[in-house]
Amino acid sequence: MTLPPDRLDRFARHIVLPEIGGAGQAALAKAKVVLIGLGGIGSPALQYLAGAGIGTLVLVDDDTVDATNLQRQTIYGGGNVGSSKAELAAVWVHEFDELLDARAVATRITSENAVGVIAGTSLVLDGCDNFVTRLAVSDACVAARVPLLSAAVGRFQGQVGAFAGHLPDQPCYRCFVGAAFDADDCDTCAEDGVLGAMAGWAGTFAALQAIRVLLAPLGGLGDAQWGKLHVLDGLAPSLRTMTIAKDPACNGCG
Ligand SMILES: [Zn+2]
Repeated sequence: MTLPPDRLDRFARHIVLPEIGGAGQAALAKAKVVLIGLGGIGSPALQYLAGAGIGTLVLVDDDTVDATNLQRQTIYGGGNVGSSKAELAAVWVHEFDELLDARAVATRITSENAVGVIAGTSLVLDGCDNFVTRLAVSDACVAARVPLLSAAVGRFQGQVGAFAGHLPDQPCYRCFVGAAFDADDCDTCAEDGVLGAMAGWAGTFAALQAIRVLLAPLGGLGDAQWGKLHVLDGLAPSLRTMTIAKDPACNGCG
């Protein structure tokens, strides 16, 4: 696959990087990435994934824009309050780069519909705000054999982890959190607060890790870092990395 001249110009600063090159940019153009949640993590992640020329973006969010979102959800403005985040995100992509394919899915992801949304894609980036959705997404990723980047943020802390539970030796997200959260909705932003720039750091770091995963088969930025959870501390500031083990008794992938 060769990129046409206008695309070579657009992505010239990527292509000159030996870690990406023409082959890497072509791989990004062929990739299909599902974003679960177009909020504080999904908005900046989408901006950098679209900027990177990810060819197909599936944009999943059943929520509408609220005035309290605007402090961190960077693709929306005051005039968008009350409108569908998934549909606004698709419009944002079309205006940013008309050659990218952006598909809005303005429904809530459940254990019933998750596999249908995820199957056949390259990668899922989950930046949603509740554990019920996160676990449904994780189980669907294992079933559909699609890798998962899971990103979360609260106050001044962020977490970004890469999971490939469909592989025999690699953990899934459920290996990390267990089944304890199955029934709880743990959105704490409303009660605890979150610094907007902290959500931006987690979201753009997730976009970086997404590109790492997508380019891993080519060598790219190194290995995919399955089972590595990066913990971002905005107050210190610091970044530390934990390794998650596969749980042989996991309900998702064991
Ligand atoms: Zn597991």
